[in-house]
Amino acid sequence: MDKEKQRKLDELFEAFSVVAEGAYVYLCDMSEDISRWSKSAVNYFGLPGEYIENAGGIWEEHIHTDDRDDYHHSIDMIFSGKDSGHDMQYRAKTRDGNYVVCTCRGVVLRDAEGNPAYFGGAIKNHGIKSYVDTVTGLRSLYGFFEDLRAIFWKKDKSIILQLGISGFSNLNDVYGYSFGNRILQQLGRLVQKKFANVGAVYRMDGTKMVVISRTLCLDEVAERYSELQDAVSHDFYVDDELISLSLNAGLVVADNFDISDKTVYSCLKFAYSESKNRKLGDLVIFHDMLSHDNREVLEKINIIRNNVSENCNGFYLCYQPIMYATSEKLKGMEALVRWKNDTYGSVPPNQFIPVLEQDTLFPKLGKWILRQAMTDGLKFIEKYPDMVMNVNLSYAQMEKDGFIKEVLDLLEETGFPANNLCLEITERCRLLDMELLKDMVKIFRDNGIRIALDDFGTGYASLGILRELPVDTVKIDREYVKDVEKSKADQSTVRFISDLADAFSAEVCVEGVETEEMKDFLKQYKVSSLQGYYYSKPVPSEEFLKMDFVAG
Ligand code: C2E
Ligand code: CA
Ligand code: CA
Repeated sequence: MDKEKQRKLDELFEAFSVVAEGAYVYLCDMSEDISRWSKSAVNYFGLPGEYIENAGGIWEEHIHTDDRDDYHHSIDMIFSGKDSGHDMQYRAKTRDGNYVVCTCRGVVLRDAEGNPAYFGGAIKNHGIKSYVDTVTGLRSLYGFFEDLRAIFWKKDKSIILQLGISGFSNLNDVYGYSFGNRILQQLGRLVQKKFANVGAVYRMDGTKMVVISRTLCLDEVAERYSELQDAVSHDFYVDDELISLSLNAGLVVADNFDISDKTVYSCLKFAYSESKNRKLGDLVIFHDMLSHDNREVLEKINIIRNNVSENCNGFYLCYQPIMYATSEKLKGMEALVRWKNDTYGSVPPNQFIPVLEQDTLFPKLGKWILRQAMTDGLKFIEKYPDMVMNVNLSYAQMEKDGFIKEVLDLLEETGFPANNLCLEITERCRLLDMELLKDMVKIFRDNGIRIALDDFGTGYASLGILRELPVDTVKIDREYVKDVEKSKADQSTVRFISDLADAFSAEVCVEGVETEEMKDFLKQYKVSSLQGYYYSKPVPSEEFLKMDFVAG
C-alpha cells in the first residue's frame, strides 16, 4: 500500500475512532482490501495485526457458524456496491475461544465519482458469552436477569412465560447431543417467531426458555403457547427428521414492583414445575394456583422469602402426635412448619413451601426446620424417651452438596439422638440422582436415622422409589383414606398399599384419621401407626408438652 493511501486510511480511522464511544473500529480501503482495526479488537479477538489484508474473510472466521451466512451475504452486497452499509448482530469468537455478542454498524464511503472507496464502522461488544447462549443465540439466563431487573426498575407491567421440553434427555440419548442442540436451536427460532415484535426470548438452563412480553395480554400469551404446543407436537422438523416434542409452561404476571425480582423468578419456576409435574404441560398461571389476587400473593411470598434470609424470622414449628395403631400410645410426632406475621396471620405451609422449594434460599429454611425440631425434640425426649420425631425433607435441600453432613452435624450440635429421628421424604425425590439418593438413605440408616416415604401413591413414582430405597415407614396420604369406611376404592387402596409396604418390610402410617370410627375401621389392615385430628391437630411445642399422652 503506498504512503499516501496509508496516510488517508489512518486519518479516516482516527476520525472514526473519535466517535466510536468504546466500540471497536475498523476501516477498509476497498480498492486494496486492506483494513485497519482497533488495537483493542486485535488483542481481544486475536487478529493478525492492526493492518489486515482481506479482513472480511478473516473476520468471518471469527463469526459463529450459525451467523456466518448472514454476515457473508451482507459483505458481498457491500463490496459489490449493492448495499451502502449494514447494521447487524452476530456472535464473534474471542482469542480464548468464547463467543461474545456483537452489533456491527458499517457504512460505505464513496469517492468523488461515486464509487465505493472505504468501508468502515464500529463493532460494539455486548459482553461476555454468558449473556448469550451459544447454542441458540438467544439471550441467556444472565441476560434474562438483567432485563428482569430493568423491568422492575421501570415498573413495566409484563407477562413472563417459561417453557421447556419434557423428556429431552431421551431425545439426547436417541439422537445424540449435537442433534439435541439443533432441536433447541430450532425451538428457539420458533418461539422467537411466535413472539416476534411482542416479546423477548431467552434461553435458560436446560431446555427452558423464557418469553417476556410487555404488550400481550394473558389470553394472547396462552393462545400463542397452545399454538406452539401444536406446532412442536406434529409439525416440527429438525434436519428433515420429524420430531415430536411435548412442552410445559408456567407464567407469572409482574405487576407488583415492590417485591424482589428473585421472588418473581421463584414463582415462575413454581408455575413451570406444576405444569411439568402435574398438569401434563398445560399452561399454569401462577396466581391461579393459589387462588388469590396476584399482587397479594406475590407480596406475601416476597415477605416470607425475605424472612428466610433474616434468620427465618416468623417461622415456627407445630407438632402433631403419631400413635401406635393397636395400643394407641404415643409413638412420636411430626414437625410441621408455619409462618406468621401481623398482616397475614398464620400461613399454612402449602402456601409457601412449594414456591420456596424453587428458591435458592430453601436449604436455609430446611436447615432451620431441622435444628428447631431437634431442639424442641430434646424437651419431648425428657417426657417420652422413646419417641420418634418426624421431620419433612424437600428435594431442594437434599440436592445441596453436603446435606448428609449437615444433618449429622446438627445432631451433634443439638445433642439430639439419631435413633429418635425419622426423615420423611416424598416421591418428588426422584428428581435427584437415584444413586445419590440411595447412598444418602444408606448413610442415614447406618447412623440410626429412620426414613419414611410420605404421601405414598400421590405421585406416579411412589412404587419406583419404594423398590429402590429401603424405608422404615410408608405414610398413606389422607386423600386415600378420607372415605375409607364407605368407599370400596379407599379400602382397596389401603389394603394394597399396606400389603405392598409389608412386602418391602416397611411399616405403615395412616394420616388424616379424623374420627373414632375411622380409627376403628383401619385396625383391620396392616397399619402400624395413626396420625390425625382425632388425636390432635398440629400444635406448638409448649402445647404439645401440656398434653399427656401415654408413652409407647
Ligand atoms: P404432609 O407432610 O403430608 O403433612 C400432613 C398434613 O396433613 C399437615 O398439613 C397436617 O396438618 C395435615 N393433617 C394431619 N391430620 C389431619 C387430619 O386429620 N385431617 C386433615 N384434614 N388434615 C390433617 P400441613 O401442616 O398444612 O402441611 C401440609 C404440607 O406442607 C405437608 O404435608 C408437607 O408436605 C408440607 N410441610 C409441612 N411442614 C413442612 C416442613 O417442615 N418441611 C417441608 N419440606 N414440608 C413441610
Ligand atoms: Ca409429612
Ligand atoms: Ca403426608
